[in-house]
Amino acid sequence: MANKSFSSIQISEAQKVNLKSLGYKQMTPVQAQSLPHVLQGKDLIAQAKTGSGKTAAFGIGLLERINPRFFGVQALILCPTRELADQVGKELRRLARSTANIKILLLCGGKPFGPQKGSLEHGAHVVVGTPGRVQDHLRKGNLKLDGLKTLVLDEADRMLDMGFFDVMTEIIVHTPKNRQTLMFSATFPEAIKKLCRSIQRNPVSVTVETEHEPGVIEQLFYEVKKHERNNTLLALFEHYKPDNALVFCHTKKQCDVVAEFLRGRKIDALAIHGDLDQRERDQVLVRFANNSCPVLVATDVAARGLDIKSLQAVINYELPRDPEIYTHRIGRTGRAGEKGVALSIFTESEQVRINAIEEYQDKPCVCDVFQSLDRDPGYSLQAPMVTVQLDAGRKNKIRPGDLLGALTGDAGLAGAQIGKIDIFEMSSFVAIERSAVRQALNYLADGKVKGRNIRARKIGQ
Ligand code: ADP
Ligand code: MG
Repeated sequence: MANKSFSSIQISEAQKVNLKSLGYKQMTPVQAQSLPHVLQGKDLIAQAKTGSGKTAAFGIGLLERINPRFFGVQALILCPTRELADQVGKELRRLARSTANIKILLLCGGKPFGPQKGSLEHGAHVVVGTPGRVQDHLRKGNLKLDGLKTLVLDEADRMLDMGFFDVMTEIIVHTPKNRQTLMFSATFPEAIKKLCRSIQRNPVSVTVETEHEPGVIEQLFYEVKKHERNNTLLALFEHYKPDNALVFCHTKKQCDVVAEFLRGRKIDALAIHGDLDQRERDQVLVRFANNSCPVLVATDVAARGLDIKSLQAVINYELPRDPEIYTHRIGRTGRAGEKGVALSIFTESEQVRINAIEEYQDKPCVCDVFQSLDRDPGYSLQAPMVTVQLDAGRKNKIRPGDLLGALTGDAGLAGAQIGKIDIFEMSSFVAIERSAVRQALNYLADGKVKGRNIRARKIGQ
């Protein structure tokens, strides 16, 4: 079994800090299997599904190999569509935050030529693009690839399906023979194998199972009388004891009422819905994602921007009318091979919604009654971390490493006591282990970060 910790691979300390600030606790399977080889400069064929973390699997590796002082294109990533190139570009920029002065340039169709040409003249270290536009720039002599170290073909099967074989071959002719070639594809038909044979040298093959094994999400449905919803919700927490959960409600009002009910029962919960302003919304999302608020009560719309890696439970306080929304909701649990439960509360009048879900999933729903659940009456749920907010952000040139440095240096906290770090324009949020918060705040009360005093306070209790 590959070691899943980022500390087990040969990457810079700055990148380790950066990954921590992104909330990446450990490598996904495709990263754990690929990165050691990518970092050694080997060629690679990797088969993995969408959402498995392929971008970082090649991105972390190729960024380590970039020499920022050489202003030529050292890595080229070809993607089938503009949208995919855009996503890869965004993720690479996040991964490159730890390394000063690495320029990442997008070369996609649908955008004017001139500015792209100008950017190329200024020098870019990494180019992400679609085959057609990259070919155009090569033909016009705007783009030189003779200093290329790493070539990535992302979603190679789709690029072939879209008829890009000849274009890709033409691009590859412009690259040095001793380059590293990384091939990512969801499927490996003969055409891909042939392409690999012609452009790669002794590639290492990596195959990762589908992340969403059927049955990883356990679904259960509880029929109740209308007035029993709250008690049932509590019973579900007291029985399943999830470390974190997302509770879905229909209305904003309901979100507030349910969150307050849970807080009254020693379950730390926050509501999120459209009535919050941007600042409040950011705070709630930060606290949920960084482990300092275990339960979020949300409407479907408010939950949309949520980027949560491992949710142990999704609870439907009420069932949605549309079975597709139900499926979308519960897909937020049981990710990345972890087990999750999807628990739904419904009343007799909502039976039609159960029928719709059964039809949609093509299998019966397992129903139970909450009275049969074993409950732990002493149950309470408090987050292991607390969020500390600082009144300085990107505007003040604060980086995750500055905060981590101050807290583990002069403040004397251990690295393991510090969690996710989020930097916004005017403020920053650091998750700190509950037991170490006082120590951190004491330091920040008169100690310095980057040579300045910065106001800090904890949010929530
Ligand atoms: P793919 O290209 O395989 O579809 P992406 O590279 O776009 O997947 O990654 C999917 C999501 O997972 C992104 O939001 C990314 O930020 C996140 N992610 C990647 N690696 C990790 C990790 N090690 N820990 C947590 N989240 C990760
Ligand atoms: Mg991808």
